Amino acid sequence: MSIMESDKEDLSRAEVLNVNNNAWESVINIEEEVSNKKSPKEVVEFSRKAFTAGKTKSLKFRKAQLKGLLKFLEECKGDIEKALYKDLRKHKQECHMCETEVVANDLRHTIMEVAKWANPQKPQKRLVNLLDGVYRYNDPYGVVLIIGAWNYPILLTLGPLVGALAAGNSIILKPSELAPATANLLAKALTKYLDKDCFQVFLGGVEETSELLKEKFDYIFFTGSTTVGRIIYQAAAKHLTPTTLELGGKSPAYIDESVDMKKAAKRILWGKLINSGQTCVAPDYVLCNKEVQDKFLQHAQKIITEFYGRDPMESPHLGKIITERHFKRLVEFINPENVAIGGKYNSSARIISPTILINVSPDDPVMTEEIFGPILPIIIIKNAEEAIHFINAREKPLALYIFAKDKSIQNLFLNNTSSGGVAINDTVTHLITENLPFGGVGESGMGSYHGKEGFETFSHQKSVLVKDLTDLTEMTLSVRYPPYSDIKISVLNFLLKKRGGVSFGFLKNCLIFSAGIACAYSLQYIVKKMESSN
Ligand code: NAD
Repeated sequence: MSIMESDKEDLSRAEVLNVNNNAWESVINIEEEVSNKKSPKEVVEFSRKAFTAGKTKSLKFRKAQLKGLLKFLEECKGDIEKALYKDLRKHKQECHMCETEVVANDLRHTIMEVAKWANPQKPQKRLVNLLDGVYRYNDPYGVVLIIGAWNYPILLTLGPLVGALAAGNSIILKPSELAPATANLLAKALTKYLDKDCFQVFLGGVEETSELLKEKFDYIFFTGSTTVGRIIYQAAAKHLTPTTLELGGKSPAYIDESVDMKKAAKRILWGKLINSGQTCVAPDYVLCNKEVQDKFLQHAQKIITEFYGRDPMESPHLGKIITERHFKRLVEFINPENVAIGGKYNSSARIISPTILINVSPDDPVMTEEIFGPILPIIIIKNAEEAIHFINAREKPLALYIFAKDKSIQNLFLNNTSSGGVAINDTVTHLITENLPFGGVGESGMGSYHGKEGFETFSHQKSVLVKDLTDLTEMTLSVRYPPYSDIKISVLNFLLKKRGGVSFGFLKNCLIFSAGIACAYSLQYIVKKMESSN
């Protein structure tokens, strides 16, 4: 199919989805024209110069950048929808619900809170520091590299950007080359809304990213596969650059006998099928017993028809698979002998119908790598204990889903498994719940972000202790100087001892200690006065 024909086809699909056609033309142009104007070395040097000049540090500047990003999301909504449609055949509702609005809400929250977060924090003080200033300063790291992923190319590229801007860094954004329309839109349009010295977009794939990674950054934030995560971590280690890795893996969904199956099946299938299964926290596979599987299948067919009509391949609500390579990889997972529902696909459109596989062995390819597509295998286990054993025998997942009415079953999983996050009786939405950090553990990643965690991720917490130079302070310090003695050891122990809550006895000791210091200080003062008058 020629470029013109495929554009026409996309345009007619866009009309079906009722996206804003006025902006369509600009997406096509952006895709054809944008290229990097600077080498990796120049990009990093430019960014460092801007950071060193101190421009990013003021609260006013940070807020202006955050507001600029919000304005981009609002004013370029039509362009964004079209770019996401072009890259992933993403429906307008999914663009809104899973990409732009999530970032916009994080931005609104951050704009409201950033002044509070950026203020130096005053932690609780111990007796030894009663006369001192004790602070935690939040320093921006400096030059930050954010490498985004293609599956949610707005959410996973601009989401980390919120925290990085709020923390006052100078930023280089590398969107995924596999979502080129969105990457080009960001390069062309977003740069108009943010400060050009302190924010740059660098485009490219493996080769360009590898070159970029040779440079020294002050922080690297990567979203992508565990395999590439290892490469990023090694490159970062050369410069001892702190790194957040948001990776993938196989996220299980356990279904207990106690659930309302209609609701459970709907919530699992929604989480599995949004973005055609190309979601890092999609339930990768189901664990349940044979009776539960039978009930699940009875409901699943009806739900899939309700979601996508009789022929999901014709539905404008089902996205496409990002590349031919990923499409082929997914199709190979579909062993016709295991298909309980679906199993159809269209190679030219790269669409796969929602597919459920049964009688799957843990050693089958579909169970040995992350699926990342609309295919859901079911693994039969006897009970919750066996499900926990199955989960713990594998790498720690990014998400764990527990569908159970029974609280003791919920707690059994919570207390005996480790995962990046957990949702009970739902899928995916823990990721967009305000005030919950998002991130993996073990092979599913390290570090987290969203809201305050995003700000903290991109800030170095600098410990600051302020002492004055008065005689009183100097006197309290005298116990640490040589010559050492047993009395000094006792006083130091008293001052340094970690205490729980402030008890009456402790307050009494404090008063006696303060009175002692005051007496000693007055005595010293009187002695000096008398000496000078003689
Ligand atoms: P990927 O790791 O293949 O690629 C990510 C980016 O890294 C690419 O765009 C490319 O620019 C760069 N890259 C690839 N190979 C490289 C190399 N050898 N050297 C240097 N740079 C290289 O990931 P992907 O295919 O874009 O995304 C899918 C994976 O990401 C899945 O495993 C998914 O679970 C995971 N993911 C995780 C999250 C999360 O938030 N935890 C979100 C989305 C996706």
